[in-house]
Parts: sequence; C-alpha cells; structure tokens
Amino acid sequence: MGLALALLLTGQARAEPDLGAMTAGERIAFTKALPKGGELHNHISGAVFPETLLGWAAEDGLCVHLADLALAPPPCEGELLRPAAEAVGDEELYSALLDSFSTRKPSFRDRSGHDQFFGVFGRIGATTSQRAGDMLAVVMDDLAHQNTFYLEAMVTPQGRAAAALGLQVGLRADLGEMQDALEAAGLGDLVSAAVASTDALEARARQVLGCETPAPRPGCQVTVRYLVQTSRVLPPEATFAQLALGVALVEADPRWVGLQMVAPEDHPVALANYRLHMEMVGHLSGQGRTTPVALHAGELTFNYAPPEHMRDHIAQAVRVAGARRIGHGVALPHETGAEALAAEMAEKGVLVEINLTSNAVILELGPHNHPYGWLIARGVPTSFSTDDAGLLRIDLSHEYERAHAYGATYGDLKRSARNALAFSFLAGEGLWSDPGRYQRPDPACRGQIGAPEPRGACADLVARSDKAREQWRHEALLAAFEAQRGLARRR
Ligand SMILES: [Zn+2]
Repeated sequence: MGLALALLLTGQARAEPDLGAMTAGERIAFTKALPKGGELHNHISGAVFPETLLGWAAEDGLCVHLADLALAPPPCEGELLRPAAEAVGDEELYSALLDSFSTRKPSFRDRSGHDQFFGVFGRIGATTSQRAGDMLAVVMDDLAHQNTFYLEAMVTPQGRAAAALGLQVGLRADLGEMQDALEAAGLGDLVSAAVASTDALEARARQVLGCETPAPRPGCQVTVRYLVQTSRVLPPEATFAQLALGVALVEADPRWVGLQMVAPEDHPVALANYRLHMEMVGHLSGQGRTTPVALHAGELTFNYAPPEHMRDHIAQAVRVAGARRIGHGVALPHETGAEALAAEMAEKGVLVEINLTSNAVILELGPHNHPYGWLIARGVPTSFSTDDAGLLRIDLSHEYERAHAYGATYGDLKRSARNALAFSFLAGEGLWSDPGRYQRPDPACRGQIGAPEPRGACADLVARSDKAREQWRHEALLAAFEAQRGLARRR
C-alpha cells in the first residue's frame, strides 16, 4: 500500500507535494490546474501567438514583406509584398514567419535572442496596433483556462500623441514647471482620449469573448487592470509627457492603476537617461505614494551593459522612483550593497516579477545563473509572470512548471500566486495582515479563508475592497485545488 493511499485511508491529508517526485507530465498538469492568482507582468502586444496574429493579418488584408519577414499595411504591391492571406497557404513562408514573429529559434537570422525578441514588436506592429481588444480577449481567455482570474496588463495609452506633446513643450530643468506646461498644452485632452480608447478596448474584448451572450467564454470572468507603458528610448521630454499622462490617467480612471517603463533597458538612450527617468517617475508619482509604480529594472547582464550600469538601477528604481515592484531585477546581486538592498526590499515589500523564460531567451540566464533562489533566500517577495507569452511561446503555467528547475517548491508556487494579488495595484485593503507570509488573515476574516462565501465583517471587507474580493476568490479556488488532491490545508 502506498503512503498516500495509507494516509488517505486513515483520513489524514498529505503534506506539501514534492514537485521533484512528480513526472514531467504530472508537474505540467499540476501547475496548469493550480490557481495562480493573477499575472502582474504581461505586455499585451507580445502576448499573442504568431499563428493568431497571422490569421488577423489575413482577415484584415495586411501584407507580408518577404525580405524582412514582417507585416505591412496594404496595398500589397511590388515584388517584396504578398497578401498575408496567401502566406498562410505557403508552408515554407508560413513557417519562416512563425520564426520571425517569435523566439522559437532565438538565433534566427544569426541574431542574438535579445535582438530577435525586441525586433519582433516592429515586425508584428501592423496587426497589433489594430487588434488591441482582440489581444486582450486572447489573454483573458487564456488565463481563465489556467484557473487564473486577475490580469494587470501593460498597455500604452495615447503614446504617440503624448510623446508629440512632450516634444512640443520641450525639456525643462524644473520638472514641476514642465508638468504645468504639458497641462497648459492640452494633456487633459489626451486623458479623455485614453479613457475613451480604454472603453473601446474593453468593449471589443468583451464582444470577442461573448460576455453579453448566453454562452460567455471563460475569459469574461477575468478582472483586468492596466499599467501605463511609457518608453525609455524616446527623447526625455517625450518620455516625461507619457509619464505625466500616465499619472493623470491613473487619477482619472480607476481601471488604470500604475506606471511602467518599457523598451530595452540596455538601449543607449535608456542608459544615458536612467537617472533622469527615475527622478521623473519619483517626482510625478510622489515616490510611488500617490501613483503606484512598477518598473523594469536590472534586466541586464554583462553582455548588455558595462559594469557601471549594473551597480544601482534597481536601487534607484526603489529609492528614487519609489517602485513597489521590479520587473526582472536579475542584476540585483551585482548591485553595490546588494545584501542591504535585498533586505530593504524584503522589509518594505518590494516584489520582483520573475520571468524565467524571458530571462533565458533574452539574457541567457538559466537555472545555473538566475538569481531566483538568491531572492527567495533573502525573503524578497516574488511572483512569476510571462512577460510576452506569444513571442516566447509559453503560458503562465509553463513558468510555474519551469520554476521547479530553479529550486521552487510547492510553497514557493503558492506564495507566488498569492503575491500576484497581494502585491497587485488593485484598490482596497487586502485579505491578509502579512502579505508575503500569509499566516495572519485580516481579523475580519479569521477562520474563514478558503470558505465558499464570506460572513459578517469579512463579507463587508470583500464587498468594499477590490483586492480582498479577488483574494477571496483565489483562496476559494486554492482550497478546492488542494482538497481535490488530498493536500493538507496549511498556510
Ligand atoms: Zn517586460
């Protein structure tokens, strides 16, 4: 008689499952079914698989550029352009386009994984710029199919218009004066336009998912909030205007919950302006106190940045900009005073969004040289995410499964899932008094976590707080997941 069966027969639940004792197939099925709470680091424009993008390109009459292996707007005239609809029927071309639109061959055309990855966005831009609502629908539905119901999506609102306004106003030494000048030049109109385009984005996603029909797709159950993507490779006055728009948008529209900065951190413009960008974010966000801030920082290795840029990017993001979350953060152990910084992040609760496949493909960091275990050992909160699932040809469950090779235990996966909600920028108080540890529920909910319905003061908390509501839903799913597998309830 197996131990598990014996325990089952004696009525005792099993202790924590051992991921290492599972076969690969068991681990894949297990992490797919595990409720993963949410996803905090997801660029919608990189989240959709190339097959789907090519289908949209064909439907929309777009063209394929045969030399660049990129999408282009119609008309498809000249020797180098063919209708995307024809490309779908050409086996060789179709396969080459899938290579071009993803990192399944990271060294495609002799590029580095880094260059292949960052180049994809331009090659698929002709469709991703037209299909934002469709992309959101794909992401929502895919998360729901993975028993996960919260998404904090990175989207760029009115990016070009904001950048143009910044160039028009120009760079000022006094950031407050520049913010005033942007407001006087019409920043408010861009906020209204961004709110309207968010309405359109959500309406399209809900239409695609059939949310108002008798047969809504599972994705309709996913709660979505947005992070304002701004670009760190534009002239600094354009970046500042995008950030200023972001702060105003977060204030005006509760669906927008925080700031982000994107584009390669190792780009010469990004490196040259890093300190200035951190000061801009710190100024505009009240150091993260009035506007929540999550930043890509320390997504660097010696292959992509000289040592002087490996010393303090994360420290500046935390201490100058006021970031509450760090995207990637893989350079943290390289930073000056790394131990003190890690201790500060553990103490303040600054979470690192961990993107294992992205780091492997772009930065060549694998289980042998990724700092995941170092962060865990220091109590820095972490949560797994995909970064760009479509380009990388992965899903969130894949990242949870992959984490095993980096030393993650079941307890780590469960904490990652809870962290995705506790460290989200959802409004309201949380269900836990000790986010990151999960030993002490809010007194209102003591003894109730994991129950199907909240009662009394706990019901009031869940009713008034977005965060508590999502956490309640997650805990109920987690309790069901563990009960089905005969796992002991232990926090
Ligand atoms: Zn990212």
